[in-house]
Amino acid sequence: MKSDSNKIKKATISAEGLSRLISLKGEARQRLWEEAGKVQEKVVGKKVFFRGLIEFSNFCTKNCYYCGIRKDNRNIDRYDIPDDAILSAARFAYKNRYGSLVLQSGERSDDRFVERISRLLYEIKKLSKGELGITISLGEQTRETYKEWFKAGAHRYLLRIESSDEELYYRIHPRDEKHDYQTRLKCLYTLKELGYQTGTGVMIGLPFQTYEHLAKDLLFMKEFDVHMVGMGPYIEHHDTPLYRYREQLWPLQRRFEVALNMIATLRLLMPDINIAAATALQAIDPMGREKALKCGANIIMPNITPTANRKNYLLYENKPCTDEGADDCTNCLNVRIAMAGREVGYGEWGDSKHYRKKPPSIPPVGGRN
Ligand code: SAH
Ligand code: SF4
Repeated sequence: MKSDSNKIKKATISAEGLSRLISLKGEARQRLWEEAGKVQEKVVGKKVFFRGLIEFSNFCTKNCYYCGIRKDNRNIDRYDIPDDAILSAARFAYKNRYGSLVLQSGERSDDRFVERISRLLYEIKKLSKGELGITISLGEQTRETYKEWFKAGAHRYLLRIESSDEELYYRIHPRDEKHDYQTRLKCLYTLKELGYQTGTGVMIGLPFQTYEHLAKDLLFMKEFDVHMVGMGPYIEHHDTPLYRYREQLWPLQRRFEVALNMIATLRLLMPDINIAAATALQAIDPMGREKALKCGANIIMPNITPTANRKNYLLYENKPCTDEGADDCTNCLNVRIAMAGREVGYGEWGDSKHYRKKPPSIPPVGGRN
């Protein structure tokens, strides 16, 4: 057993070793998952933290080839949840001691949008007496905007690199000014420099993607010295350009398993970061997120978007929990998390230990608890 564990740890040293771990199947894969679960318990403990997810608008100015809410998709109803409904979702998170929430939407960078987000951030801080932690995931913005939102109270930012391989990046995005790989990269560095706890991630099982690409993604995260990661399986959407490659994809079950292998391997590679159990896992396996919590993930993002709008935030097909109220989600999650041998860190921010170890040079204005 001991030698197994050493073998697994040794494999994380090289790109070849990482690709091997990511591609494991059967019993060997089981051992990888167990090993990652052990490292997780030892380093970050059994606690998992909630981030109440509010997907407040599906208006988007971009055209990513994989995403169901891309600008050119005319087959969806666009929505924008009014501020008071967003604030009541935030109040729900606060009352239910979720600790933090995530504001996510399609990408916009017009002045009205930027100001609105600042206002919402101030309001959420106010209604929760500064207690709710706020993560935002609003795409690429200017340094000034990031700075303004940080000042207004956001202290974590999620911006997936989607793929760290530039060539693959341009096979899943238009090659134009609005979808520039270097800009995305630069945004990540800016966020970190400004003091945000910075999260990135990739999709797993994209067309043209190999195990080597995925190994490179993990090395990218390590080199960037990321604080948190959210990554999950790619799920095709019929109204997107990538749909035409669906025959070439790994079967859904394989994408799911490789996603868990990625989470487990990353936990070994970066033991003290926060890793989210992505919602897309649940679109493939009803217990998908709980399985991830056992093999490395320590963050879960219950969807608290007002129900009426959930069915329109379809980034991919078969998205789970689109017709449940937020209350149902809390109850069912409690049971599921206990079944995974984990416990919820109610009322705690659950900051990345990696961030706490290495605080940024600029202190966060919103403060930390
Ligand atoms: N507009 C922001 C945030 C919303 S999209 C941004 O793009 O950063 C959030 C994430 O959803 C993206 O980063 C992408 O990784 C994921 N996503 C989009 N389409 C997907 C699909 N078809 N399958 C799985 N994940 C998808
Ligand atoms: Fe817009 Fe984000 Fe979807 Fe790209 S992934 S189309 S930026 S919502």
